[in-house]
Amino acid sequence: MSVENTASSGPAPSDFIRDIVAKDLADKRYQKIVTRFPPEPNGYLHLGHAKSICLNFGLARENQGQCNLRFDDTNPTKEEVEYVDAITADVDWLIAGWADHCLGLKPKGAVPRKQSQDGRDDYHLPAVPPGTADAEPFFASDNFEALYDFAVALIRKGKAYVCDLSPKETDEYRGAPDKPGRESPWRNRSVDENLDLFQQMRAGEFPDGARSLRARIDMASPNVWLRDPLLYRIRHTAHHHAGDKWCIYPLYDYAHCLSDYIEGITHSVCTLEFEVHRPLYDWILAALELPRPLPHQYEFAKLNLSYTIFSKRRLLQLVQEKLVDGWDDPRMPTLSGARRRGIPAAAIRRLAALVGVTKYDGVTDVALFEHAIREELNGLAQRRLAVLRPLKVVLTNLAPDEIIEVDATNDPQAEHPTTRRVPFTREVLIESDDFAEVPPPKYFRLKPGGEVRLKYACIIRCEEVVKDASGTVTELRCTADLSTRSGGPNSDRKVKGTIHWVSATRAIDAEVRLYDRLFTVAEPGATEDFKQFINPHSADVIRAKLEPSLGAATTEDRFQFERIGYFNLDPKDSSAGRPVFNRTISLKDTWAKGGKP
Ligand code: ATP
Ligand code: MG
Repeated sequence: MSVENTASSGPAPSDFIRDIVAKDLADKRYQKIVTRFPPEPNGYLHLGHAKSICLNFGLARENQGQCNLRFDDTNPTKEEVEYVDAITADVDWLIAGWADHCLGLKPKGAVPRKQSQDGRDDYHLPAVPPGTADAEPFFASDNFEALYDFAVALIRKGKAYVCDLSPKETDEYRGAPDKPGRESPWRNRSVDENLDLFQQMRAGEFPDGARSLRARIDMASPNVWLRDPLLYRIRHTAHHHAGDKWCIYPLYDYAHCLSDYIEGITHSVCTLEFEVHRPLYDWILAALELPRPLPHQYEFAKLNLSYTIFSKRRLLQLVQEKLVDGWDDPRMPTLSGARRRGIPAAAIRRLAALVGVTKYDGVTDVALFEHAIREELNGLAQRRLAVLRPLKVVLTNLAPDEIIEVDATNDPQAEHPTTRRVPFTREVLIESDDFAEVPPPKYFRLKPGGEVRLKYACIIRCEEVVKDASGTVTELRCTADLSTRSGGPNSDRKVKGTIHWVSATRAIDAEVRLYDRLFTVAEPGATEDFKQFINPHSADVIRAKLEPSLGAATTEDRFQFERIGYFNLDPKDSSAGRPVFNRTISLKDTWAKGGKP
């Protein structure tokens, strides 16, 4: 993997979290900073997660630190290996080029071991560099044994107890923000009884929901998260990573801070909704009186995008109800959807840099993302000729078998642009809307008796319009002025319009999918009935004609079909001789005027 040297991979502008890290390093509070990206494998990653990935891996990369990819897999009922694999692939893709510098992995199968330094337990688990044989991401579930030992330690300190209230009763006892909670009748069990019951919970002696392990904090705290929160619950369910070894599972708040500690995380960066959990995060770590430096939690605002839904539950609904073609449907806001659609990873990193990191929730205009995509693709994409809705043009002064090879530019943006040869023949195809029989004012494309330049070829004049019985235009008969070809005596003759074309006899056929925004309204998630806002034209499929060189396209290539938009070969549905191209994005924002294109 090479390090990309584009603007979007450069240092991100500073923000309050980067300032904190810079100060901590300047104060020598840490030798090296370690962050983590902790997805729960219960769905695919989306652009919101990308903001967190760019921040956490970005912090590590900019400060010669490390960012661990950790699966926060403490809830076996909603998690699956399919999601673990998809998330791993998405992170690899998004930070390719950064990974060598900062991706923290661990030796495959390694679990934290007790090292018993200073008579106390130490679970430090060092990361291994990427590329190391058999390195794998971290899994919170690899810490289950260590987490269990920590829970026993809390019980011994009188800071956790086994509670027999049902889940419903536990909720009722918790109270509300304006109403203090009530203490559980099981709160004052002896340490020995708690140790014994907790051991029996682990041994599978009670059914789901019969008992729980709770922290013993303060039922009158104004912060409801401190009202004796649940640490463990009983779930007789096998786990996708830990197997069937466990029937008690730790809760997020308990597992997260301790996983951070075990991995040696310094800055645990999460989104704003966890701000109210921070006192609990700190309480658990402090209660255990741990020997190594403690991690600290910092919160930033989530990414929200207009015209987009990020709720995993709703995205799952779109997939399950087949309203989209799976998690990687090119219209989905998932990273796998973006990748399939031909969106460069650098465009997503550019979006993250543009949005920045703040403490204020807001909605980012999706047009900013689309702008970032166009910016990236403009520099990357090879120019090609393609006609989406063809109209036949016969150049009556060319011989039927004549083939003129014209030079077309591949990369006008490059310092030294390159060219390719494109066949120009007696019969060509142009876009049907590049001809108007009754042209509106200021129409500079082709009209009866009018002239236009066929890009890279020459000027043509429309001599005759052929129609079928119903009056539909089926063919234009034109003459080509070959003296206006590049290098010809009249090459600098100017006409107002230039249009694209392909040879009718040499073009290849392709299916082209014209993807567009999935929703027609800016806030599709504002009501429960978000499905009514699905854009019926978000995936129009047409048969198009492409210049012959596109027959050799690969899924890695990015193209600009001139005057139309950016396209890529669909990696899933294309096959030899049957290409399928996706429109990544149109050349211009057709939504800005307030209307659907
Ligand atoms: P849930 O927890 O409901 O399953 P989630 O979107 O929070 O959904 P996680 O897998 O917990 O999913 O997310 C992993 C990380 O990505 C978390 O640290 C979370 O804060 C962050 N994240 C999730 N959504 C966004 C977003 N829209 N913007 C920025 N970061 C996000
Ligand atoms: Mg979450």
